[in-house]
Amino acid sequence: MLPNEVLALKGLKVAVVLAIALALLWMSRREPDLSRHPGWGMLLTGLFIVLFGDVLNLGFGDGRHSLWVAPFPEFTEVTRYGAWVLGNLLLALGFWRWLPLVRQLKQAQAALSDANEALEREVAQRTLELKRANEQLRHDLEERKRTERAMRHMAHHDALTDLPNRALFRDRLSHAMAQADRYHQRLAVLFLDLDRFKAINDTLGHNAGDQLLRIAAERLKGCVRECDTVARLGGDEFTVIVEDVEDRQAAAVVAQKIIDSFSQPFTLHGHEVFVTTSVGITLYPDDGEHLDTLLRNADAAMYRAKDCGRNNYQFYVPEMNTRARERLLLENALRRALVKEEFILHYQPRVDLRSGNVIGAEALLRWRHPERGLMAPDEFVPLLEETGLILPVGEWVLREACRQNRAWQDKGLPPVRVAVNLSVRQFLQRDLAALVASVLEETGLPSSFLELEITEELLLEHSAANAAALNRLRELGVHISIDDFGTGYSSLSYLKRLPIHTLKIDQSFVRDITLDSDGAAIVSAIIAMACNLRLNVLAEGVETEAQLAFLRAQGCNEIQGYSFSRPLDAEAFERLLREGRRMHLLQGLAGYYVNLMPFANPTSRH
Ligand SMILES: [Mg+2]
Repeated sequence: MLPNEVLALKGLKVAVVLAIALALLWMSRREPDLSRHPGWGMLLTGLFIVLFGDVLNLGFGDGRHSLWVAPFPEFTEVTRYGAWVLGNLLLALGFWRWLPLVRQLKQAQAALSDANEALEREVAQRTLELKRANEQLRHDLEERKRTERAMRHMAHHDALTDLPNRALFRDRLSHAMAQADRYHQRLAVLFLDLDRFKAINDTLGHNAGDQLLRIAAERLKGCVRECDTVARLGGDEFTVIVEDVEDRQAAAVVAQKIIDSFSQPFTLHGHEVFVTTSVGITLYPDDGEHLDTLLRNADAAMYRAKDCGRNNYQFYVPEMNTRARERLLLENALRRALVKEEFILHYQPRVDLRSGNVIGAEALLRWRHPERGLMAPDEFVPLLEETGLILPVGEWVLREACRQNRAWQDKGLPPVRVAVNLSVRQFLQRDLAALVASVLEETGLPSSFLELEITEELLLEHSAANAAALNRLRELGVHISIDDFGTGYSSLSYLKRLPIHTLKIDQSFVRDITLDSDGAAIVSAIIAMACNLRLNVLAEGVETEAQLAFLRAQGCNEIQGYSFSRPLDAEAFERLLREGRRMHLLQGLAGYYVNLMPFANPTSRH
């Protein structure tokens, strides 16, 4: 072999060994564990020795081309073989020790790669979950915000009508007052409630009452500007803030608009009912500088509107507060009146128009007020209704009337039927029939000598419950009459179906019979209808001979009123019975008509 070829071969060998060494070094840098393994030292040592041997023996073969040891050819030979054997031995040993580690490392890398993939999958899964959780969180957050908004709305609005409630109303009013101060303006507060609302709630039920409030709220909103506030304070009480009003006249225009908006009937569950409203008006800053004062004054003005016959508006005047204080005092006195036995009954005689005899009496409540003297019912009965005292007081009236009637019978006086007025609330109490039965038993009065007067309001709805209650009373044997007949807007169909004995024509119609032809026509029609339905008919508030003559001519069965007697206390009525006082019916023109009129000879069952 040529020396140049030997050198090239040697060079190639050195290059290969150096490449392997560099590869090993590169691997050890990537995997430090490899360089720490004993096999690693062996490999490097083996390589070094092989390299050393070859470098030393570049003159392999004859030693002539050796760079370093040519002068010692025998030594070169030993070194050459020794280094070759040792180097390769160490290389083999090194690879033998080192390869499993490489395998392990590969396995570990594969496991690591698997673990990495699993981790990535896990991370992707977790990211997805996080994303979903995030979305859910965002949704929950929005939901919560919505709920919070709804709760804030609910905290400041009335659930039934969605109008601002008392808290928001106060807030808006104080804000409006500050605005009025700033711009030197006036504002009006209108306080109103619905007349006869309680009766509608009691007779048509709470659902109808709620519907009425909702419709009323809508109508009120339609009467004011967008910038004004309509609020519901509770029950049937509404308030309106009218900002920037010029003067009282401007506030009055709004109040009248509200009253007019109530003139249309309300349709509640198929029933048309007429509801009016009473409005109290107060102006800021004229009538008060504080929010509570304004509200109190508007409330007082509203009560004044009610006292003035309802369905109107009134402005606040300072005397109204005095009236409100008096009302409070009256209420307190009323609460004690039953215990202090300040109530008494007066009896208004009822006269049979055929015989002229006294055949009954209507028990009328009076209050002997310690300071004011004898008070008429219209001065305190509305308060009894409002305070709920009507139930215990009504029960007292029933018991006292029965006891008194029985006492008269026990004294041998001609038996009469005593009539007791029942309020709507009394009628609707659950155990009314049981109460009446126990009072009759307790007092020993036969049931046929008791009559209960109910109002048409009760029959606004011909409910099964009301019919059942009336039937239970009738089964007891008591008589039932409709008081103030003709004033209650009710349907007449109930007259046929319900167990009613008597119609009492309201005195407002009786008053009119000799004044105008319409009044006379209404009364004639009621009497004719009652006769056809075989109902007893009584005219209330008969005061003049002319009225009496007309009623006799039309065939009315009974009358009560000043033309015969005013209401009497128990003693005076007893005297009247004892003396056998009776109405002397004039024969003549009236009697003549009695005989001629086709329905003039009433043959009542009663
Ligand atoms: Mg009555």
